[in-house]
Amino acid sequence: MAFEEFDDFESALKALIDKLDFDLENPLNDVDKVLCIEPHPDDCVIGMGGTIRKLTEMGKEVVYLCLTDGSMGTTDESVSAHELALTRRREEEESAKMLGVNRIIWLGYKDTELPYTVEARNQIIKVIRREKPDAVLAPDPWLPYEAHPDHVTAGRLALEAVSFSPLPNVVPSDLQLGIEPHQVDVLGFYYTAKPNYFVDITDLMKLKLRAVRAHRSQFTDDVWEKWEPFLRTVALYYGKKVGTKYAEGLRFIPGLFLHITPFAELI
Ligand SMILES: [Zn+2]
Repeated sequence: MAFEEFDDFESALKALIDKLDFDLENPLNDVDKVLCIEPHPDDCVIGMGGTIRKLTEMGKEVVYLCLTDGSMGTTDESVSAHELALTRRREEEESAKMLGVNRIIWLGYKDTELPYTVEARNQIIKVIRREKPDAVLAPDPWLPYEAHPDHVTAGRLALEAVSFSPLPNVVPSDLQLGIEPHQVDVLGFYYTAKPNYFVDITDLMKLKLRAVRAHRSQFTDDVWEKWEPFLRTVALYYGKKVGTKYAEGLRFIPGLFLHITPFAELI
């Protein structure tokens, strides 16, 4: 059917999505390499640790890009920022290994002060161009009531970096260094209130909780007393939407709809 014959939005949108060559039912099917961007050294596992484990078990490569050093994540006055950053690096390496992730790239911005700048965006573009992931995952910057600026900034920077990394005139010095432009096929968000894709993690919940708990500096016994119920409740929330006990919810949006699109929320 020729597109000019569509006279209602719903059928046109369906046909348009069919044209896009983007499988919203299985967005990670044809993906071999995933770059999971996190503001702090525990967000990938909290947001999508079960999904990451499933991907690595399928033989896909997952690499973390951690934007800040996590140096502010303590209420203990006896721990210095420098000391905490070192501890958190070790904890993140241990936690990542439990999910089958062996590489973590650190940008080292100061925790709580991730800058929303062209410089920070260009750093992420450089990583995307070097790593050439098929998919990039990041926190949803439009999560309602999110209080942490690093999370909002990380999501926005990731989205912009994915949009600009194929454009050779953006940071042309990359090209002189032999770092070629790269098109990311799939962009997704974790920590989202508008999930459109769910991963059943019922069998992986135990492992996920252990991998979260590997961040011992963050989850002391008293903190864990609230966090374990919290994490289980989040997994039940997503699970209820898809008919499993525990799930992780992600949001994928085709690239065409990440700009000037009044109905991107409907995807
Ligand atoms: Zn965080």
